[in-house]
Amino acid sequence: MMARQGAALRYAIVGAGMAGILAAIKLRQNGEDFTVFEKADRIGGTWRENRYPGLTCDVPAHAYTYSFEPYPEWQAFYATGGEIQTYFEAVVAKYGIGPAIRFGAEVTALDWNEATAQWTVMLAGGEREAFDVVMPRRACCIIRAFPPCRGSTALPDRPFTRRSGLTTHPSMGPGSG
Ligand SMILES: Cc1cc2nc3c(=O)[nH]c(=O)nc-3n(C[C@H](O)[C@H](O)[C@H](O)COP(=O)(O)OP(=O)(O)OC[C@H]3O[C@@H](n4cnc5c(N)ncnc54)[C@H](O)[C@@H]3O)c2cc1C
Repeated sequence: MMARQGAALRYAIVGAGMAGILAAIKLRQNGEDFTVFEKADRIGGTWRENRYPGLTCDVPAHAYTYSFEPYPEWQAFYATGGEIQTYFEAVVAKYGIGPAIRFGAEVTALDWNEATAQWTVMLAGGEREAFDVVMPRRACCIIRAFPPCRGSTALPDRPFTRRSGLTTHPSMGPGSG
């Protein structure tokens, strides 16, 4: 393994959800060179993706907030998903993270190169880019999964079943306020 002597490290962050935004802010404050890869077209992760009516965070709003970025605007003790999304968008704007986020950039694979001591980040479109540090994201919360149900013919692209009425998913609501 041959580390690159003296060169500034390049960081890749996968996902612009709560965790990725925090990592980006901290790297920016340290003057680091980073790129956030976000497969969607907006930041927010869980709070962008899930929008069923009544979606509310079970952690008190003032605790579900970056410690360095308090938010006096919370409307209630427990914030709605829509409010949390608004909060994250305000934080991203305040810290100027937006230009460092590549939207529509889905990371499909990471490949470690022992010779250069770098990761190759591979994107869905076939693009490849080398980074020294990668902060991956599992996105466990926002994969739309429809478990098979007895009597149901639900398919991932078909929110309605033929025989058993409505099949739904938290990301398919009209909006959570
Ligand atoms: C319906 C629901 C309700 C929840 N309620 C609560 C709650 O009440 N209290 C609580 O504490 N937590 C709750 N959570 C958990 C919540 O997800 C976490 O609190 C937090 O939002 C996770 O942030 P994250 O950045 O780690 O991940 P996420 O919010 O999942 O963000 C990940 C981001 O990475 C992107 N991404 C994923 N894979 C790739 C890829 N391969 N390439 C590029 N981009 C990628 C996604 O598009 C997304 O924007 C809830 C989750 C769900 C789904």
